[in-house]
Amino acid sequence: MAAPIAKKTILIVEDEPHIVMGLKDSLEFEGFRVVTASKGKEGIALARSESPDAVVLDLMLPDINGYNVCEEIRRWNSFVPIIMLTARSQETDKIRGLDAGADDYLTKPFSVNELIARMRAIFRRAQRGSTAPEAFDVGDAKINFAAHTALVRGEEHQLSFYEVELMRLLVERIGQPVSRDEILSKIWGLESLPTNRTVDNFIVKLRKKIEKSPDKPAHILTVYGFGYKLVP
Ligand code: CA
Repeated sequence: MAAPIAKKTILIVEDEPHIVMGLKDSLEFEGFRVVTASKGKEGIALARSESPDAVVLDLMLPDINGYNVCEEIRRWNSFVPIIMLTARSQETDKIRGLDAGADDYLTKPFSVNELIARMRAIFRRAQRGSTAPEAFDVGDAKINFAAHTALVRGEEHQLSFYEVELMRLLVERIGQPVSRDEILSKIWGLESLPTNRTVDNFIVKLRKKIEKSPDKPAHILTVYGFGYKLVP
């Protein structure tokens, strides 16, 4: 049995009772506090009132779809990790979910253990701490890890949970290549998959916020066939 996790609240927004029940039982067994909503609007309300530490959000809901729920939550909370459940495996749906503000997705049917692995990864780094400083300058950007912000040429950008963690890992290993597999396993809690574009999507998001020319990055560099490297 793994070490206990400090009581974190996870909000599940899903209308299929057997999935909700399975997830709730398993996550509670892992030591999480679980709140559930079977409709999108109820999920949005609970995301406000319960201040969850993570959200598991189904795409297909009876009232409004998961993309809209995600966008609504992101309106006032840019940081809470949101993992989307999707019955579709098309790349466009995943991209749309990531664009709506989701951090990750699982395609149904998924194993509960896979979801738990991701939840543990989300909270593991927070527990173990980081050697990265509280604030760090990358080019024209001032990254504030505690405030989850990047101040770039006078403009403040909010950073999401995974953007902060990804940046923190690159800062910890400044000037060294960090492999995509290591990023996936350390931050997302994923086994490496050749088709997984999650890391690349988040690199694109970070570059848009931090780089002067996101298409010709000067700081968050691609190490071809391997991963990424930060040059401040
Ligand atoms: Ca559903």
